[in-house]
Amino acid sequence: SDSHFPIPIGPADFDYCHHYPYFFAPGSGGRSDGDAPPRKVRFADIGCGFGGLLVGLSPLFPDTLMLGMELRDKVTEYVKERILALRASNPGHYENISVVRTNSMKYLPNYFEKGQLSKMFFLFPDPHFKEKNHRRRVISLQLLDEYAYALEVGGIIYTITDVEELGDWMRSCLEDHPLFGAVPEEELELDPVVKLLSSATEEGQKVARNGGQTFRAVYRRIKLEEE
Ligand code: SAM
Repeated sequence: SDSHFPIPIGPADFDYCHHYPYFFAPGSGGRSDGDAPPRKVRFADIGCGFGGLLVGLSPLFPDTLMLGMELRDKVTEYVKERILALRASNPGHYENISVVRTNSMKYLPNYFEKGQLSKMFFLFPDPHFKEKNHRRRVISLQLLDEYAYALEVGGIIYTITDVEELGDWMRSCLEDHPLFGAVPEEELELDPVVKLLSSATEEGQKVARNGGQTFRAVYRRIKLEEE
């Protein structure tokens, strides 16, 4: 149950020193850039599984803090160990990625303040096929309200799945939500992150090995007139 893992009471309570010691430890030489506002997590990988996306993204954006959120205890522990091992064998690298065990569907606002994130990832989420279980899907109109809150204007949600029905569902939720607009295909072709969606994660690699099709929806957080 949720009571077995600690949840920050709010974004200010999230322990940056613990997760990103290279950037935050006392005596780290002020890698938080002098007078610049303190660094915050900017990318969130929701249901990160074994962490392949974080590992793939880390060297592409070495100064950007990224956080994986994963519900399964053992899987989260594996990702922690994986990151620590990468840091140990590549000094100064992989310092910008970390993971928490949490239920992102319940606790996202405990981790991120309004407009904090520039990218959110939902790669191969659980399909929850039955109609009565659709409310458990990690993308829904209601949850998109929360994601729109956590994302900055211009921030991007990346989704991909090998389940066509879920792909249609995620796209239609994003399409129907007033705060999201589709990122044009030409832009996706230039985005280095898009290539990782189908190749970086363990689930993506499994689908690729089996020659499965994937369905992608990438949407931008847009500004409403009254904002
Ligand atoms: N994104 C990874 C990949 O592409 O390899 C993992 C995909 S796996 C099919 C879905 C993951 O989401 C599982 O590891 C599951 O434990 C996690 N998950 C499901 N519901 C979650 C929730 N509410 N909060 C956090 N993680 C969740």
